[in-house]
Amino acid sequence: MSDKHRPLRAGIDMGGTGTRLILIDGLQEVAALTLPTADFAALPQQQRSVALVAYLRQICPVDGHIISLGIGASGPVNNKHGVIENGDTLACFSHFPLLEEMRQQLQVPVSIDNDAVTAALGELHAGAGTGSSRMLMVTLGTGIGVAMLDKGKPLRTHDGRHPEAGHIPVSGDSDRCYCGITGCWEMSASRSWLQQALKPLLPDLEWQQLSVELLLEKSEQNSQLAELFRQYGERVGRGLSTLLTLYGPEITVLSGSAAGLLPLFHSGLQHALQRAGGYALHPNIVTSSLGDSAGSLGAALLPTLGEPAMHY
Ligand SMILES: [Zn+2]
Repeated sequence: MSDKHRPLRAGIDMGGTGTRLILIDGLQEVAALTLPTADFAALPQQQRSVALVAYLRQICPVDGHIISLGIGASGPVNNKHGVIENGDTLACFSHFPLLEEMRQQLQVPVSIDNDAVTAALGELHAGAGTGSSRMLMVTLGTGIGVAMLDKGKPLRTHDGRHPEAGHIPVSGDSDRCYCGITGCWEMSASRSWLQQALKPLLPDLEWQQLSVELLLEKSEQNSQLAELFRQYGERVGRGLSTLLTLYGPEITVLSGSAAGLLPLFHSGLQHALQRAGGYALHPNIVTSSLGDSAGSLGAALLPTLGEPAMHY
């Protein structure tokens, strides 16, 4: 029997550092490819959608064909026009009609949403949040992404946008974030902050070489390192405390490359979330089970779901 026309859904997760492409059959990953976002920035603007489509076709198995595309993009997305508006951390895919270009080239339905939403949808449908009626997802990556799913629907602002809840004031620091405020949570608790803070303590190790086991071992010998992780937990907890108070989720999924280090910063986080008596939060915090695939998998599901920010 021939299954030459196996229908596959494509998803693209666009982050400040990496761009991940995925093809799924049902909920099953068939092919995936991660490229540095800088590779696309190096191309002329008109070539960026062409390159994305070429990569999708390159990873598509001979027995499959792409029937839809969903995109998760970091930062603000203009829902009306299908244009990414993140000149700060995703400049190379911003301020041009990327969706329209991709729809024309692929001739399939194309949808877009914020990458925090697509990662949350991935975890809800196929990962750590499966079955949850109210799920908060916090991604600790280049920045901090936040998405809240209530009965599977992403929480929106009154005019349909994604609330950028990674950008909330958490401290009295005077440094100004690109979002316009001082003491911003993203500036004080993203993976980027942790990475920078670790450098002087572990000058010989690259971020990619840092495993939980290695860091636990080093923290036992190095009190400064243990103290840094305690502080990082406090910093993450500063913003999370506000979100847990406002949203009251059933489950909170932490994702992004810093989330895997939760055993190291768990005690600082718990300390920051402590509240008295009837104000106690009782959080159920878990780490992502899909890892880097959550955003692209959730993006691939976007066109099948009733309520993405944008169908094109
Ligand atoms: Zn900010």
